[in-house]
Amino acid sequence: MGTTPASADQAMISAAESVLRAGGSIAFDDDPQGALYAAVDAVGLVAWRAWDRSDVELALVLTGARARALGIVVGAADCIALSVTEADDVEAIAGRRNRPPSVEGREARKATSAARAAIALAKRAGLLPALLESPSRMLAPTLRLPSVGMLQATEAAEALDIDVEVSLPNAYTDAARLFAFRSAVSPVEHLALTIGAVEQVAVPLCRLHSECLTGDVLGSLRCDCGEQLNAALTRMAAEGAGVLVYLRQEGRGIGLLNKLRAYELQERGLDTLDANTHLGFHTDERDFAVAATILQRLGIGRVRLLTNNPDKVEMLQRHGVAIAEREPLCVAANRHNQAYLQTKARRSGHLFRAVAEDRSRLPLGA
Ligand SMILES: [Zn+2]
Repeated sequence: MGTTPASADQAMISAAESVLRAGGSIAFDDDPQGALYAAVDAVGLVAWRAWDRSDVELALVLTGARARALGIVVGAADCIALSVTEADDVEAIAGRRNRPPSVEGREARKATSAARAAIALAKRAGLLPALLESPSRMLAPTLRLPSVGMLQATEAAEALDIDVEVSLPNAYTDAARLFAFRSAVSPVEHLALTIGAVEQVAVPLCRLHSECLTGDVLGSLRCDCGEQLNAALTRMAAEGAGVLVYLRQEGRGIGLLNKLRAYELQERGLDTLDANTHLGFHTDERDFAVAATILQRLGIGRVRLLTNNPDKVEMLQRHGVAIAEREPLCVAANRHNQAYLQTKARRSGHLFRAVAEDRSRLPLGA
């Protein structure tokens, strides 16, 4: 099979994500502070329950977005550390629990590069970006990583290959093939669904779709993902060819659980982007570079991109896929997702006006 062998670093990074998810701690060999990090959002809270009794001064590492949401003055910092004691409701401060966090008068210091690397690992693990930091050299971490810089080096080297290719007749067409791509650094498999003889079409239709379990599978009306997926496949089937890249980056890349947490915040009045930053994430954590790699593996270098999102056009082009044309993708708003669509248009630059004008060109989903 064509899977790229995992380097030792990639294996370490996957292990670190598992350790954080399970409540263990990590440390970096080249961190001068020698601190241990454990995720507040872990399934078990093994590491820091032990630290509570260890009599050392703990800090809570948060993203700048989460700190700003809490009203802590952090300037433009993307990552900060707050001193915390046993009396603090760390889970509330981290956004894991919907209890009012008390952080009044708390002063933040700049996070170390080790803390920032640990935050990046927590995000990759689908956890809230919030970590307890223990400076104690008396405690042994669950896992020791060789260097703070290894994450970036590995990301740059991430390679994907086609692992499985099968025929997948579906509700849209009999002529569909599904390709699964496996990565050494990510536990999820990205997919590509081709319709028709896509390799014989000079400039095929292409849609990049980010996984949305609630919208794609459960028919959620909170967003327009399911309908967009349906509209894209309907359009490709009508044209007789196309390629759908199905990216496993749920909830704009923040993970299923965090997306549902953001929904909970939206029920309390935040809009879709503010809810993400309230939890400490960027408004969009998705990475479309991987989509370019997938298209290249399929031998597709030039596409007509079905999207309302100008960022996708820009990002694919930056990663070597030529966009001959952007074709809008239109779905009807419903009473549940109207505010969501308006936020996408107003705050993320999605081009819904163009959609309305071009509506007649697009067959809507059945
Ligand atoms: Zn969705």
